[in-house]
Amino acid sequence: MQRRKPGGMLQVAVIAGVLIIGGMLIRRAVVSFTISPENLLPVQKTTAPRPPAVPGTEIRHVMIQPGETFVAALGRLGFSPGKAHSTAMDLSDMHPVEKVHPGRRLSVTFVRERPLRLEYEINDASRLLAQWQKNGRINASVHTQPFETRIAFVRGEITSSLFAGILKAGEEASLADLLASLFEYDVDFNRDIRVGDTFQLLVEKRFLRGEFYGYGPIHAAVVTNRGRAVRVVRYTDANERSTFFHPDGRSVRKMFLRCPLPFMRVTSGYGNRRHPVLGFSARHNGIDLGAPRGTPVKATATGVVTHAGSHRTKGRYVQLRHPNSYATHYYHLSGIRRGIQRGRRVTQGEVIGYVGNTGLSTGPHLHYGIRHNNRFINPMRLRPPSKNPVPPAEMVSFQRHCNQVFFSMTAFSWLQANKVDHWIPASFETVADDAATPLSEAPSIPLSFPEDLEIHP
Ligand SMILES: [Zn+2]
Repeated sequence: MQRRKPGGMLQVAVIAGVLIIGGMLIRRAVVSFTISPENLLPVQKTTAPRPPAVPGTEIRHVMIQPGETFVAALGRLGFSPGKAHSTAMDLSDMHPVEKVHPGRRLSVTFVRERPLRLEYEINDASRLLAQWQKNGRINASVHTQPFETRIAFVRGEITSSLFAGILKAGEEASLADLLASLFEYDVDFNRDIRVGDTFQLLVEKRFLRGEFYGYGPIHAAVVTNRGRAVRVVRYTDANERSTFFHPDGRSVRKMFLRCPLPFMRVTSGYGNRRHPVLGFSARHNGIDLGAPRGTPVKATATGVVTHAGSHRTKGRYVQLRHPNSYATHYYHLSGIRRGIQRGRRVTQGEVIGYVGNTGLSTGPHLHYGIRHNNRFINPMRLRPPSKNPVPPAEMVSFQRHCNQVFFSMTAFSWLQANKVDHWIPASFETVADDAATPLSEAPSIPLSFPEDLEIHP
C-alpha cells in the first residue's frame, strides 16, 4: 500500500480551519465570507481579455481621484478640454456626471485616438455606457448588473520595486497604487524598500460577465520591510464606517505622511539606484529625495503656510507650521502651487508645489526637512503619533475580526505554499448584516493548526 504524503493530515487540518473561520470573516462588512466546498472557485485570471484585433484600438482607464471632476478625468484619458466638456454635457441627460465619486472607474475605448466607447462605474451595480455614432453623436444608457465578487490572496517578493512585484504576482498595476496608499503613513515604497521585502494581502476582486473588472477594497495586508512586519486591516465600525488600523488598534492615519512625494510606478527600485537618499545630518537640515522634475509635492501634515517664495540657496520653497511645535520645509521646487501663500491653511496630502532644481541644487530633487521645538530632526526616524484609534467599546470586536483575518491569511499562505491553490481564492457571498453570526456564537479559533505556522496575534 502506498504511504500517504506526510503533509496530508496537516492539509486536512488547515482546510478544516479555513472552513470554520471563513463564515465569520469580515462579519461587519457588507459582504460576508462563506467558504464551503461548493463556492470555492479556481483562481481566475486578473488580466482583462485582449480587445478585438482592430488596428489602433486601445482601452484606457482611470480611477476618479478625490476632488476630481468628470471633465478632468476625461482630460487624463486624452480628451481635449472642448471634447471633454461636450461629452460631459451629452452624458448629463442620462446620468448626472457632474457628481462623480473618488475611486470609481472610467474607461474609454479609442480607435486611432478617436473615442468609440465609454464606461463609467456609477456604483457597485450600475454602469453608464456610451457609444459614439458615425455622425459624432453619443448614445448613452445605464446598465445594472451586479459584480461577482471574490476575495483573492496575493503575495509576492520585492526584487526591484513594489510595482514590478505586483506585476510578477500576476496582478494589475492599480493594485500597487492601492497597496501604496494603504501604507503611505508607514512605508515609502519608492525609497524605503529593499530586495527581499515581501507583501501579502487579501483583496476583493470584481468580475463582470466572467471577466475581471477591477479591485474592490484591500481587506488586510502585511508588508515586511527590512525585517519589520507592518500589518494593516480594514475594519467596519458600529457606524458602518470602514477604515484601516494596525492590529493593536492604532489607526494607520498618522500626523505625518511617510514621504511628501507620491508612489510612482517604476520597475526598478527608484531610491536605491538612480537617486540615492542622502543621509540626514543636522547641518544639512533634512533629506534629499530624488524625483523627476514636476513630481507633485504633498504637505506631509495639516498646517499653515509660514513661507512661500524664493531664496538664493533654497530656491523656490515652502515652509509649513504644524501643531505641537512641528514645522516642515520643502526646497528647490520648480513651482509653488497657485494659492499657496503665507497664512493659507493646508491639509495633509494637499499638493503645495512641484519638484525642481532651483537654488543651490545639482539635479531635480526635493529637500525635505522637519523641525521640532526649533531643532531639525531626521524625517526617516520620525515615528509620528496615530490619529483616532479603535474606540475602547469596539476593541473586543475589532480584535476578533483581526485574529480571523490574519488567521485566514496565514491559512491561505500555507495552502498556497503547499500547492493547494485550487482552493484559492474563495468566493464571497453577499448576506444581510443581521444574518451574520452573533458575536456570542462566534466559533473559537481551532487549535489544530500545524505548529510551524506563524499565527499573527
Ligand atoms: Zn538637501
